[in-house]
Amino acid sequence: MKLVVIDPGHGGKDPGAVGNGLQEKDVALSIALKTDWYLNNYYKVNTLVTRYTDKDLSLQDRSKISNNKNADLFFSVHCNAFDGNAYGYEDYTYLTVGQATKSIRETFHNKVTEVLNKYNIRNRGMKTKNLAVLRETKASAILAETLFIDNVSDSNLLKNPSFIEDVARAYADGVASALNLEKKK
Ligand SMILES: [Zn+2]
Repeated sequence: MKLVVIDPGHGGKDPGAVGNGLQEKDVALSIALKTDWYLNNYYKVNTLVTRYTDKDLSLQDRSKISNNKNADLFFSVHCNAFDGNAYGYEDYTYLTVGQATKSIRETFHNKVTEVLNKYNIRNRGMKTKNLAVLRETKASAILAETLFIDNVSDSNLLKNPSFIEDVARAYADGVASALNLEKKK
């Protein structure tokens, strides 16, 4: 069975981005745990979450968890922040990745944005960046920036429990479709 490592960004002393009464570490944890739930309930897959609670975890340790278990996919959940005016969804892979990772990410991205389109969320596209968790992880690795926490309308969605469910379900379905996971009966 394939192994997916789900990584809620930040945690503990590191809140990540903050805005409109939200902290990125909390939003990321909530979405990641729900993504984990959807994956396990609907698909035949093994999962591991890098942190199940609000705790400190270094970037190296996140990659190590994935590398030690020889995961098939490392999926990191974050929220974006900029100047309050930027909004929308984007995801990242490392600067240079193989064809397998490219195609996994493309399938994931298309599946996720299908759902986000229902909320008229701006699709900022598929991007690449030299991020430590993407660089140091041996598995195919994707980092999703789930809207802008410092933007008023994006943060209103992030405060909406049914949006959090929908985006978590979209992430789970995106991962499943990208890895060709079998559905549970
Ligand atoms: Zn972050």
